[in-house]
Amino acid sequence: MKSKYCLKKLSIIVDDLKIDRILKVSDEFLDLLRDAGYFEIGACIQCGNCTASCPSGRRTALRTREIMRKAILGQEEVLRDKELWLCTTCYTCYERCPRNIPITDIIVFLRNIAVERGNILAPHWNVCNVLYNTGHIVPIDNEKHNVLRESYGVSRVPPTVHAFPEALKEVQNLIESTGFDKKVKIGKYEQKIE
Ligand code: SF4
Ligand code: SF4
Repeated sequence: MKSKYCLKKLSIIVDDLKIDRILKVSDEFLDLLRDAGYFEIGACIQCGNCTASCPSGRRTALRTREIMRKAILGQEEVLRDKELWLCTTCYTCYERCPRNIPITDIIVFLRNIAVERGNILAPHWNVCNVLYNTGHIVPIDNEKHNVLRESYGVSRVPPTVHAFPEALKEVQNLIESTGFDKKVKIGKYEQKIE
């Protein structure tokens, strides 16, 4: 019942905007959010609690309320916003939202759509690429780290792909089986993001 009410409210907002010709909105984009089950977004009252409580926003240009506003209005430009990638998925906004909107999940969902449309920041793409090619997000490629490990009484290299390089193929098989390589454009789909 609550979902139907939220959806109706969302439709009214969008219809009003179309009539006033204030902004270009996309029904297709709103349909994606609706199909994914994020009806609650229509209950956002733009109170700004999410922005105020966001630890990342204190140090970056991330303005969570603005991202939510663009999403509610069906403004696809949000998918090209660099700020979308500044969220650390800490869930603080979700905990503080008076409307119980799953903000963090919505941001992750928006990122997924953004990636499908070729929008990803170079540093994030680099991490994906390094994982595919080494089996590690942060590979150990400095001898001093091996020495440090030894000094702590553990093996020079961890029992990961570092110690078992033949396991890299398995890591790549796992990545490919999920379609992640195609989506992010790494491996045989490699398309470097500048
Ligand atoms: S805290 Fe919730 S209701 Fe308030 S602006 Fe953010 S998403 Fe909207
Ligand atoms: S989940 Fe993301 S947007 Fe929400 S408070 Fe944490 S960093 Fe900010």
